[in-house]
Parts: sequence; structure tokens; C-alpha cells
Amino acid sequence: VEAAPMARFDATFLSHWLKPRKPTSHKGNHGRLLVVGGDTGTAGAIRMTAEAALRSGSGLVRVLTHRDNIAPVLTARPEIMVDELTDDALQSGLAWADVIAIGPGLGQREWGQNALKAVATSEKPMLWDADALNLLAINAQKRQNRIITPHPGEAARLLGIKTSEVESDRLLAAQKLAARYGGVAVLKGAGTLIASEQGAMAFADVGNAGMASGGMGDVLSGIIASMMGQQLALFDAACAGCVAHGAAADAVAARRGTRGMLATDLFELLWQFVNPEM
Ligand code: AMP
Ligand code: MG
Repeated sequence: VEAAPMARFDATFLSHWLKPRKPTSHKGNHGRLLVVGGDTGTAGAIRMTAEAALRSGSGLVRVLTHRDNIAPVLTARPEIMVDELTDDALQSGLAWADVIAIGPGLGQREWGQNALKAVATSEKPMLWDADALNLLAINAQKRQNRIITPHPGEAARLLGIKTSEVESDRLLAAQKLAARYGGVAVLKGAGTLIASEQGAMAFADVGNAGMASGGMGDVLSGIIASMMGQQLALFDAACAGCVAHGAAADAVAARRGTRGMLATDLFELLWQFVNPEM
């Protein structure tokens, strides 16, 4: 893997990717997002991904999840369309969607494995996170129109190395992830890196230690998947999503500090960053 020039992005770049909406736009213009995951016991992860996508401008968000999670997701956000994940629902969801996000709360038992297998047959652009990456590490497949968003532990599994090795050369790890799995790889953590299969590299110069708390990655997945549905190219969607996510967390930290920051706190301030003209 050769060294590539590295772009550095912060919140001042968001207006480059995110233009004001056309006054005549309708909900079908902003991306139909299908979110797949949430095995029994993990309703929170899938809810946060879906809500983050709505808060980032997705036109329509549909969740396919375990039947136990339908009520909790719907109660949390009535704007989310929720159905039980069955073979039929998945086929119709895949046909309906512009973009698919899979992984948060997916689990690694057969339920999640079958869902991932079915999703992988679609040719639509998709984002894989969390347990989708743990399953990908076991059954590696390269794919062009996919963004993967591993944290250092998931990246280590995907590369078959130790987490400490990922952390000691994050740049190389990000490049290897993109080269091995195709598409775009987002290596999360302090100093998030974005790498494309074609060799583009970027550093998201935002974020803080308050983000080291549960659910933060599920929110990132929803933001990036939303950007994918809003006509951004894969690499731009990953960059814009990481910057909006980290900048929102920095805005929360500026008001209340880092300790005790919750992933859902980002929803209060994310609007400023996904509407950079404000
Ligand atoms: P996950 O581990 O999947 O929940 O993802 C955690 C999210 O928080 C990712 O977007 C990370 O980049 C971010 N994050 C976690 N710890 C830090 C940190 N110390 N500094 C900046 N961002 C962080
Ligand atoms: Mg995660």
C-alpha cells in the first residue's frame, strides 16, 4: 500500500457537501433508507441509527428488526416505519430502498447471519457496521459500493491483527481495510480516518473523548447512511458524516463537557451541521 496525500476536514467543509434543499423537493428526493438489525435485546442501537438518519435529512427511514423491538422503536420515534424482519419484508425492503444500513444490534447468531446474507445479494449502495463487520471478518467479501465503519477492535478482526497494531499505525490500517474490502473504510476512534479503495485518504479533524460512550457509533452509521441517500458520492458521504457527527459532539462538549455525554445528545445540535447554511 502506497502513501497517499491526506485531506483534513472540519465543520467548515460541510457547506461544500451539503447544499440547501430545493424548495420543491419531496421526501422521495432525500433517500429511502432501509436499516436492518436489532436482534432481541438491542432495540436501542437500531433506534439510534434510524433516528440519526432522520435527523440528518433522510426522506424516509424504514427499520426491519426483531419483533420484540417494533414497539420500542416506534414509541421512540413515530416517524420511523418499522416492520418485523422476515424474508418477505426484507425482499420488499431491498426493492424499495435507495440505501441500506446493516449491523447495529444485528448480533451474530443465525438471525443476523441470514439477514446479512440476504442484504449482500442487493446491488444497492450500503453501509456495514458493528456485527455486520464481525460477520464480514469471518466471511470476507469485497464490494465496491459499500462503506464500512469499524472501530479499532472491529478493524483488528477484519485485518486479522491485534487492536494495538491497528492503533500503532492507523493510517496503514485504514488503507488496508479499503484495499481488502473495497469501497470506503472509516476507521473510527480519536482521529477518525476515511480511506477509499482508489487511495483517497481523509482525516476528520473533529470529535472528543465524550464520544467514547455506548451508541455513538450507531449514530454515526445513521448519519453516513443518510448522506449516501442524499446523492453524495461514497467517499464524500463518509467524510461529511464523520465531520457532522464529530462537530455535533464538539458542540455538546462546549456546552456541557465530555463526561456524561450521551449518543442521543447529538440530536439536539446536529441540525446546525447538516444545515451548514444556517
Ligand atoms: P462505536 O465504538 O462503534 O460506538 O463508535 C464510537 C464513535 O465515537 C466513533 O465515531 C468514534 O470515532 C467516536 N469516538 C470514540 N472515542 C473517541 C475519542 N476518544 N475521540 C474522538 N472520537 C471518539
Ligand atoms: Mg459500534
